[in-house]
Amino acid sequence: MAKQRAKLVVGNWKMHGRLADNRVLLQAVSHGANDLPDDVRVGVCVPCPYLPQAQSLLEGGCVAWGVQDVSAHTQGAYTGEVAAEMAAEFGASFAIVGHSERRAYHRESGETVAVKAQRALEAGLTPIVCVGETLDERESGKTEQIVGAQLDAVLAKLSVEDSARIVVAYEPVWAIGTGKSATAQQAQDVHAFLRARLATKGDDVESVPLLYGGSVKPENAEELFSQPDIDGGLIGGASLKDKDFLAICSAAVAATAAR
Ligand code: PEP
Repeated sequence: MAKQRAKLVVGNWKMHGRLADNRVLLQAVSHGANDLPDDVRVGVCVPCPYLPQAQSLLEGGCVAWGVQDVSAHTQGAYTGEVAAEMAAEFGASFAIVGHSERRAYHRESGETVAVKAQRALEAGLTPIVCVGETLDERESGKTEQIVGAQLDAVLAKLSVEDSARIVVAYEPVWAIGTGKSATAQQAQDVHAFLRARLATKGDDVESVPLLYGGSVKPENAEELFSQPDIDGGLIGGASLKDKDFLAICSAAVAATAAR
């Protein structure tokens, strides 16, 4: 019997946004999120230059904010990088680590992702650790092997206490930004596998939030979020439209009520 866990919906803006547009979007999301019950938490991960704006518009409300990556280093000669502690100084709560775009375009290894998760935790941020397989890997039956290894790399580096403070996002690479979401059953199967893997590290680790990401939209969110091991979503494209993002948050409420 699956435990009742709070839902979490986090937007990943990627490299989108401009000050004027962000203001409209953040104000609408903040306003709309006021109507959500406490057991549905909402966050937005913005490009780093917009952290002060997110902080000034969201502080005191019920939407948390965060970043899409952090450096594996704490400080030093690492041109262009942003330390987790710097994000924390602007009130960030979340740091996405190991997004497939960073694994692919910046060749981030499992070891690097694990160190980034550690840096985020040290700074008091919640790392959202992304795992996911490519289409080739799925079609050759390697989904569990790939996502299991990606998760293990992080769990191996963290203590049990720290492992219980992470969020994991299953994001099949073939579903990100393609409009082609995993079916609710495909997603649930992988989430159940990840949940079992987390359980090997301890009871508290078993119940960390497990988000699904990959073309979540208002039309498919409730079915996905109703699955027993899906605790919410990491939302890319749809998080840039206030109505869509809030509709996805409402789907989390409906999925919780239906359980
Ligand atoms: C993402 O980039 O994390 C993501 C899930 O994107 P999209 O929702 O656009 O597929």
